[in-house]
Amino acid sequence: MPVPTAPPARIVIVGGSVAGARTAQALRSDGFSGELIVIEPEAGEAYDRPPLSKEYLTGSWSRTQLNLIPGGWAAVDATVIRACASGLDVQEHQVRLSDGQAIRYDALVIATGLSPRRLVADDGESIGHVIGTASDADAVREQLREGRHVVAVGGGFIATETASVARELGLTVTIIDRRSTLLERSLGTVVGAHIAATHREHGVDVRTDARIGSIRRDGSGALITLENGEQIQADVLVAGIGSEPNTAWLHGSGIRIDAGVITDARCRAFGAAGVYALGDVAHFYDVHSAKPRRVGHWTNAADQASVVAHNLLHPENPVGYREAPYFWSDQFGEKIQVAGHPDPDAHVDLLTLDGPAPRRVAIYTHGDDDGCGAVVTFGWPRGMVAARRLMPLEPTTAEMLVELEKLAAGARLASVG
Ligand SMILES: Cc1cc2nc3c(=O)[nH]c(=O)nc-3n(C[C@H](O)[C@H](O)[C@H](O)COP(=O)(O)OP(=O)(O)OC[C@H]3O[C@@H](n4cnc5c(N)ncnc54)[C@H](O)[C@@H]3O)c2cc1C
Repeated sequence: MPVPTAPPARIVIVGGSVAGARTAQALRSDGFSGELIVIEPEAGEAYDRPPLSKEYLTGSWSRTQLNLIPGGWAAVDATVIRACASGLDVQEHQVRLSDGQAIRYDALVIATGLSPRRLVADDGESIGHVIGTASDADAVREQLREGRHVVAVGGGFIATETASVARELGLTVTIIDRRSTLLERSLGTVVGAHIAATHREHGVDVRTDARIGSIRRDGSGALITLENGEQIQADVLVAGIGSEPNTAWLHGSGIRIDAGVITDARCRAFGAAGVYALGDVAHFYDVHSAKPRRVGHWTNAADQASVVAHNLLHPENPVGYREAPYFWSDQFGEKIQVAGHPDPDAHVDLLTLDGPAPRRVAIYTHGDDDGCGAVVTFGWPRGMVAARRLMPLEPTTAEMLVELEKLAAGARLASVG
């Protein structure tokens, strides 16, 4: 691939959420004075998604509190085109839009994220709610005001956070998950079982190892029949059953796609020059695990934006994406924070560390070298700050534990290595 020698004059960003907005901000703060075009079908300012299943769903946050760019798109001097990208011509350097327009680019940033999968009822039509956008969350919020029994399908973050909010609002809640514990795919069985126990303590009816046989419409709700014949009636049905990368518009363009848009560590897409991809849609080369990865978490999208902006503006001095992964969830008033890749097959120690306040942590040991692969803290942000500071130094589990024990006991953090 020829290396460009000067920054592009016109940068087009497709997708105006975290990855797109943070790229636009990073470009401007790094001195980009060229033309910036953002293609985004949703009206309004760029907004943040994590609160949609948390503060925004409870009703305690307003829409303006979700805004991602202080001052909005105007503050980064971006022209926003309200349309969906429907195709890409890499020879002509053009993005085709659903309204028939073609937008020329010198450099293209793909930031189209994911779309949630939907449940399908017996009649073949989709049923229930998903929470992918602010209007999805508005619809669920409205239903939570009226409903009595909420059924969340799937045991991932969307289902468990929705369950937490619904309990906070005083509704009865059932979670139906086909796996053996909640959050099993993301955090493994040890931490998953702990989180399932927390949900049960808060009155959620957690049905694990439960498979749905059929879903029938029932007034404005649904009647769910499990494969074991049990029936569960839902006033409000919310699906958290995974997502698909928004890559349909790239098919046939030559851009390489598998679990997302394939990129190298510099976030460059394969198949065309001057095309980058980041955030939830990217299947990037992860230098930590030395393999391709798609990460559907906020910090990854925000951090990759700096890499993309830098590489667009400083082609002579490119950088790779090297941040250690981090994500979080809020459930029943407790912040669950995760640093590293919690391999579900790793050995996991779930511990309570002694101190003025007992601290619950989980430490994941990967491979044979006793390396600490990930740390989960429960309601202990300072512990997570310490864990995140240590992770890049590749500590062993014993070293990580010693540092966290000292911190829990009230000591200052020392360095490892
Ligand atoms: C309800 C919810 C709660 C979450 N909670 C957490 C959390 O607690 N912690 C955490 O770490 N992460 C959380 N996440 C994940 C986090 O929000 C995502 O990782 C982040 O939003 C990814 O940003 P993105 O810009 O890559 O993609 P997205 O936010 O998915 O944005 C993609 C954008 O592209 C646009 N788009 C799609 N297709 C096209 C097209 N063809 N043409 C033009 N535009 C298009 C979409 O309209 C959208 O605005 C949550 C996500 C959701 C939905």
